[in-house]
Amino acid sequence: MCGIVGISHHKQASQMAFLGLYALQHRGEEASGIVSYDGKEAHVLKKVGLAVDNFDENSISSLKGHMAIAHTRYSTTGSSHIKNIQPILVTHRKKPIAVAHNGNLTNTEELYFRLEEEGSIFQTSMDSEIFVHLLAKSPNGDLKQCLVNVLSQVKGAYSIVLLVENCLIGARDPQGFRPLCLGKLGDGYVLVSESCALDLMKAEFVREIEPGEIVIIKGNKLESVYLPEARKSKKAHCIFENVYFARPDSYIFSDNVYQVRKRLGAQLAKEHPAKADFVMGIPDSGIYAAIGYAQELDLPFEVGMIRNHYIGRTFIQPSQFLREFRVRVKLNPIRDLIKGKKVIVVEDSIVRGTTSRNRIEELRDAGAKEIHMRISCPPIMSPCFYGIDFPSTKELIAFNKTVQEIADFIKVDSLAYLSLEGMLSVMRDKGFCTACFTGKYPVEIPKNTDKLKLE
Ligand code: AMP
Repeated sequence: MCGIVGISHHKQASQMAFLGLYALQHRGEEASGIVSYDGKEAHVLKKVGLAVDNFDENSISSLKGHMAIAHTRYSTTGSSHIKNIQPILVTHRKKPIAVAHNGNLTNTEELYFRLEEEGSIFQTSMDSEIFVHLLAKSPNGDLKQCLVNVLSQVKGAYSIVLLVENCLIGARDPQGFRPLCLGKLGDGYVLVSESCALDLMKAEFVREIEPGEIVIIKGNKLESVYLPEARKSKKAHCIFENVYFARPDSYIFSDNVYQVRKRLGAQLAKEHPAKADFVMGIPDSGIYAAIGYAQELDLPFEVGMIRNHYIGRTFIQPSQFLREFRVRVKLNPIRDLIKGKKVIVVEDSIVRGTTSRNRIEELRDAGAKEIHMRISCPPIMSPCFYGIDFPSTKELIAFNKTVQEIADFIKVDSLAYLSLEGMLSVMRDKGFCTACFTGKYPVEIPKNTDKLKLE
């Protein structure tokens, strides 16, 4: 998963891009980068690590220009190698072309090998590099036609921002797997993965880019063109963005994420009520559904576990002792609240089950009398090929165990998941990809599913 930003026509374009990355940091913590363009020259800075650590006043002011694109990375194709940091910047026909991509393409190998046969030399092991090669190969003519031609060749999930000389371009695949929205900032426009980034820049939310839409922004002028496939394709927004990934203060897929999560929790309470002294959520991701759950049943909501916000990357250490220390230091239960109580614990989802098991053990150690766990989405049974790093089926606990077996593994008194129908019933938008729950993939999945296939 990744976060992307594009700024057109602003005298502090790279500062704005930095704010965008700051707000979208949750979408990827591995690496971050900004490319700016001053009308003559492109400037680039890319580093491993968080945006806040990678950019300071000096480095940002060296990224001159009125336009910028930026990226924050969580690898879903290619390793965490330095060569794989985005945006990717190349020069072609004396013009800069830069791309920042969120999502995973599904016909990567086919395009990669075809392009290599035709003479392209790839510098990264990311599917995202395909965009620049296809662009470079397009005839030097009408930019709109060229973009339609390029994007008609790629399949799968992409929300992208491109900088092609003086134009900022934003596009979403015809299914609209990943979010992308448009804002107005002064005279120009901005493109960001989630609307929370607009708030930090003090940009005005205009609308979401539509599935299959390409917007071309030149100066303060914007025009749109649609991929022919957009009309034929069913929308398939990633439902897991709403469950876990996006920030609750964002507006994506025609809805506010916080309110969606509360509605998921309320629906979960209708389907699987329980009796308890109070409801709590596992911070942070489970809290919003927990509030909805508690309100629906008129039960008290308590915070239950406190998050230590100073846990940084320094804690990512190879030894088992330090790994366990990291889990413990991140969340600490409030013992006086929990001791002797019957508790309903809401979590947004279970993937491998290992974190949930640790959290429940901590609540038991704190003296909980009964623990009833409720999950605000259905069991995750299938890997994702569209940009969420869900492991292979053998690591997905729900693929290998029944709900009762999972309850035994996590050591809870009861466990229940929200139904798929219940989940979809509370969504305002109706076109969602639910492949991680159903195994029904809306776009054909790649034959070779190895994340490192281009290494
Ligand atoms: P676990 O109990 O180990 O399955 O951890 C569950 C928590 O990790 C939930 O809050 C999940 O939403 C969160 N999570 C989100 N994305 C992932 C992922 N790609 N892999 C593993 N856990 C994830």
